Amino acid sequence: MKASRDIVKVDLAEEFRICPQCGYELGFHSSFLRAEAGYRIILICPECGARYDVGWKK
Ligand SMILES: [Zn+2]
Repeated sequence: MKASRDIVKVDLAEEFRICPQCGYELGFHSSFLRAEAGYRIILICPECGARYDVGWKK
C-alpha cells in the first residue's frame, strides 16, 4: 500500500462502494485524519490503497 498517495475528494452520489482507481467492489476501510477542527474521515481502498475524502468530519 502506498501511504503517500494523494487523497481524492469525492462527491457522494447514491453509493460509494467501488474504487474508481482499481474497480474493487467490496467497499472501503476507514481512517481518521486529524484536521484543524477535529478529524476528517478518510476511506481507503483495501485493494490498491487509494484514499478518498468524502467530506465527512467528526
Ligand atoms: Zn482501489
